[in-house]
Amino acid sequence: MKKPMQFNTKTIHGGQEPDPAYGAVMPPIYQTSTYAQAEPGGHKGYEYSRTHNPTRTALEKSMASIENGEYGLCFASGLAAIDAVIKLLQPGDEVLSSNDLYGGSYRLFAKIFEGMGIRFHFVDLTDPQRVAEKLNDKTKLIWIETPTNPMMQVVDIEAYVAMVKGKNILIAVDNTFASSYLQQPLDLGADIVMHSATKYLGGHSDVIMGALVVNDEELHEQLAFIQNASGAVPGPMDSFLTLRGIKTLSVRMQRHCENAAQIAQYLAAHPKVERVYWPGFESHPQHATAKKQMRDFGAMLSFVSKDVDFERAKEILRKLELFTLAESLGGVESLAGHPASMTHASIPKAMREEQGVVDGLIRLSVGIEDSTDLIADLEQALG
Ligand SMILES: *Cc1c(COP(=O)(O)O)cnc(C)c1O
Repeated sequence: MKKPMQFNTKTIHGGQEPDPAYGAVMPPIYQTSTYAQAEPGGHKGYEYSRTHNPTRTALEKSMASIENGEYGLCFASGLAAIDAVIKLLQPGDEVLSSNDLYGGSYRLFAKIFEGMGIRFHFVDLTDPQRVAEKLNDKTKLIWIETPTNPMMQVVDIEAYVAMVKGKNILIAVDNTFASSYLQQPLDLGADIVMHSATKYLGGHSDVIMGALVVNDEELHEQLAFIQNASGAVPGPMDSFLTLRGIKTLSVRMQRHCENAAQIAQYLAAHPKVERVYWPGFESHPQHATAKKQMRDFGAMLSFVSKDVDFERAKEILRKLELFTLAESLGGVESLAGHPASMTHASIPKAMREEQGVVDGLIRLSVGIEDSTDLIADLEQALG
C-alpha cells in the first residue's frame, strides 16, 4: 500500500504481518524466556525476553503505528512507562507537571523521584503564559496530562511545543484519557506519548500495560536501554491481550463518546446536579482547545451533586447498579469512582480541594452499554 493507512486500518494492520513461522494472523503468544542460538551470537533477533519478545514487538509496532510514531516501547504498567521517562533525567533536573494529575503519577514523582534529587513543580498547565515564567535552565521535561483526571481540564499541547522550541526540554503527554483514537500528541510536536494501555487501548479491564511512543532515534535508544536495564517489561500474554484490544479501539471509542455525550447532557439538566465537568460543553473553559486537538470529547466525566458531602456521595455510589464502583477506566463496562477516597486519596486534602476534587465529586467512565440503561441507573441513584 503506497498511501499511508488511516487510523481505523492502522489499529488492525499497523505494524502487523502474519507470523513468519506458520502464517498465524494473530501474533502468537511467545511464552518463552529465551531463544536457541545456532552458534554463539547466532540468533534470529531474539536472545532473552526481557530485552525482546516477538509478541511484545508486535504490540510495540502496533503502538507506534496508531500514534503516528517511529518507535513503540511497552512496559509492565503505565507507571513503569512513566518511571522510564523520568529515568532519562539527572539529579538537579526540574520537571513542570500538571497539578491535576493521575494520583499514581503524583505519588511516583513526589514520593520516589523527589527523594532522588529531581524537582517537580505542579502547576496549572491550562495557563501556558504563567507556566512560561517557571521555565529555567534546569527544566528538562514538561509532563502533560490532557484531558486531566478527574477535572477534565484540557491542556493545549501545541502551546507547550512552541514554548520549548530551541530549548533542551522534552514534552511528554500522558494520552491515557483521550486514547490514540481521539488525540495524537506526536503529530502536534510532542516528543514522547505515554499510555496506560490498561485503560482504553486494552479496553476490557483484563490487563495492566504501559507504552511509550517516540519519533527520535536517540531518545528511543535511551528509553529502550532503560526498559531493558530496569526490566519492567510486560509478558507475552498481556501483550497479546492488548493487541487484541487495540483492534476494536475505534468502534469502542465511537460508542464510548456517544454515550458520554448523552450522559453529560442528562446530568447537566438534572435539578440535583450542581456541575458537570466534560470538555464537550461549549461552556467548558478549554472547549476550543479540545475541539482543536481532539477528534471527539471522550467518555470520562465528573460531576458534583448539590449539597453532597462524603456520606451522600457514598450513598449515591452504593445505589448505582450498572455503574460498577471501581478504580480504573476505559473498559467496555461503565465504572463510577470517588476520587477523594479512591484514585486521589494519596494527594493531600488541601491540594486536592484546591483543584476541585471535593468530597462530593463523582467520576464516571462511561462504557458501551445502552445509554438509556445507564441514564436510568443514574436517575434511580440520584433519586
Ligand atoms: C491508570 C493511569 C496511569 C497508570 O497506569 P497503570 O497502568 O495503572 O500503571 C497513568 N496515567 C493515567 C492518566 C491513568 O489513568
